[in-house]
Amino acid sequence: MNRATAHVDLGAIRHNIQTLEALAPQSQFMLAVKSNAYGHGLHEVVRTALDAGVTSFGVLESTAGLELRSSGVDVPLFAWMHGRDTDFAAAAEARIDLGVQTFWQLEAIAASGAGVVPRVHLKIDTGLHRGGADQPRWTEFVTEALRLQALGKVEVVAAWSHLSDTSHSADLESTALFRSAVEEARSLGAQFELLHLGASAAVIDLPEAHFDLVRVGIAAYGISPFGDRSAADLGLRPAMQLRAPVLDARHGLASIAVGFGDGIQSDPDGGAFVLVDGHVAPVVEVGVDETVVALPSGAGQVAAGSECIVFGDGTHGEATAEQWAVWGETVGDEIVTGLTKRVLRDFAAA
Ligand SMILES: *Cc1c(COP(=O)(O)O)cnc(C)c1O
Repeated sequence: MNRATAHVDLGAIRHNIQTLEALAPQSQFMLAVKSNAYGHGLHEVVRTALDAGVTSFGVLESTAGLELRSSGVDVPLFAWMHGRDTDFAAAAEARIDLGVQTFWQLEAIAASGAGVVPRVHLKIDTGLHRGGADQPRWTEFVTEALRLQALGKVEVVAAWSHLSDTSHSADLESTALFRSAVEEARSLGAQFELLHLGASAAVIDLPEAHFDLVRVGIAAYGISPFGDRSAADLGLRPAMQLRAPVLDARHGLASIAVGFGDGIQSDPDGGAFVLVDGHVAPVVEVGVDETVVALPSGAGQVAAGSECIVFGDGTHGEATAEQWAVWGETVGDEIVTGLTKRVLRDFAAA
């Protein structure tokens, strides 16, 4: 391999799914596979998850759902990010359930002329302020959805929201808001097949938010949704290992074939390291195509072609994506999802 390669351990994803499923045994398990399954490879992850018993997928945009349908995936799919150019008819006809966040989406879906009745999940904003009807407009939103349902233009199948994960108490408060919004919608005549609210953090820490279905993303890939507990603390296995070859080594420095162009973060505070031939090598400088690291004494045999682990599950002494997130002052989601197209993907079977 001449360039950085992300090795994805599908067995780790299977393990994580089973671990997380056991934490919400009363709920259906929807795996969030947005952004190419958080950078892990959409189709490979979906195949593994189906094998592990996952019953539905959250795809963000309906185009990803259409892609899964054309590859033969038959289970329920849920898409919730729509633009003015979204082809709602095609999505509905592909039996993709549509999350509805705004009035214009509701109207556009109802007017799409789909050959089947589009199935919609109504979103209430419970405090995250990232879409959904806020409380003052919820009554009107539900009323309009029920009017369109009576006309046979949509089928209202679910109510849902998304937690901010900023604190346990904020999430409990959002959960209570969700419950009362659902009660209100029911009093207006809504009959929901499904209620869904929680994602990774709630699966682990907030049973009150499990409801009928949980939408799980980052934890399934082996990255903790919490700042104060690692994947290992949670019994999860990081599924991605990023490796890159040494391009050159001399005068105690080595350049590695990975950089910003691959999605690597810089480390303003220092502390970042990689593992070169088993040696911890501090990062000196990240460039577009290469990263320079300092070789410790004892790493004399390191040469062009030597292998470097940028991050992995930590079992060889390498950093995890969670550690890179701390160094880059971001979240682990960004480390794995942010890898660019230039990074090759390689899969170990489940
Ligand atoms: C990304 C996303 C999820 C999954 O969240 P994680 O924290 O990664 O588990 C669930 N629901 C929605 C609406 C999302 O956007």
